[in-house]
Amino acid sequence: MPKKIPMRKCTGCGEMKEKKELIRIVRTPEGTIKIDRTGKMNGRGAYLCNDLSCLRKARKKRSLQRSLDTPIPDEILDEIESRWEVPSDG
Ligand SMILES: [Zn+2]
Repeated sequence: MPKKIPMRKCTGCGEMKEKKELIRIVRTPEGTIKIDRTGKMNGRGAYLCNDLSCLRKARKKRSLQRSLDTPIPDEILDEIESRWEVPSDG
């Protein structure tokens, strides 16, 4: 059993949650922005609840850009938004 649960802050709503409940957005060393559902990709990461409204809040506040310390073009954000909700049955 791990001694403590890793907690991360959602860049959308600002709540602290268990890391495994959050979705990681990563800026890879190549400078591309990706959704990292494994949590293991290399690069600088930002976390969001598995909730489209948190992604939209983060867009509105530009907090994703701030967390990842890079400008993110709208088309990338649109793409992330369109891939956000995956059907649980695959
Ligand atoms: Zn959130």
